[in-house]
Amino acid sequence: MINIKQALLEQITADIVSNNICPDLAREAKNLVMGDGSIDATVVFIGEAPGKAEDLSGLPFVGAAGKFLNQMFVMSEIERSDVYITNIVKYRPPNNRDPKISEKEAFWPYLVRQLEVIRPKIVVTLGRHSMEYFLPNQKIGDIHGKSNQIKLGNMQMAIVPLYHPAAALYNGGLRATLIEDFNKLSKIIEFYTSKKENI
Ligand code: URA
Repeated sequence: MINIKQALLEQITADIVSNNICPDLAREAKNLVMGDGSIDATVVFIGEAPGKAEDLSGLPFVGAAGKFLNQMFVMSEIERSDVYITNIVKYRPPNNRDPKISEKEAFWPYLVRQLEVIRPKIVVTLGRHSMEYFLPNQKIGDIHGKSNQIKLGNMQMAIVPLYHPAAALYNGGLRATLIEDFNKLSKIIEFYTSKKENI
């Protein structure tokens, strides 16, 4: 049987290609990295853009930052296969440079469409590139690890901004903060998954 959510997500992929989004990135990239995980997830993680390993495999967070993210999942007892993971920019920027504002803006409507299909209760932003679209004019140092309710179109969701795992990989202080924040996140997830829906 055709899964409607899966079909809608495939349509988003097809639209990115047919609308020729970020042609310069597309030309260099091996793969369009749309996302991975459960399309019925309560929690969606959003990083920055694919790196080399992600470009080669077509899957988000499978390189060094992804391995570190996996350790965070194990430590906080979050099953990677239960969540959905994606990025704001879906093609690898050359030499892993930061994504440009124009690239983030070009991909933003497609990210919103992904969220409209998956309908998570919680969105976890990894690093400032995705955070600034959900919580503009905020500093990650002030709000990391905290839950912020927002409305996006007709969706209501909690945004939990975290530091990017790649930043924490090489910085002991940030690493400790990210571990602490993942522990907070697992409590936030517990709260939202045990909460009764208002009908
Ligand atoms: N960093 C990201 O932001 N996303 C990935 O998919 C991999 C590394």
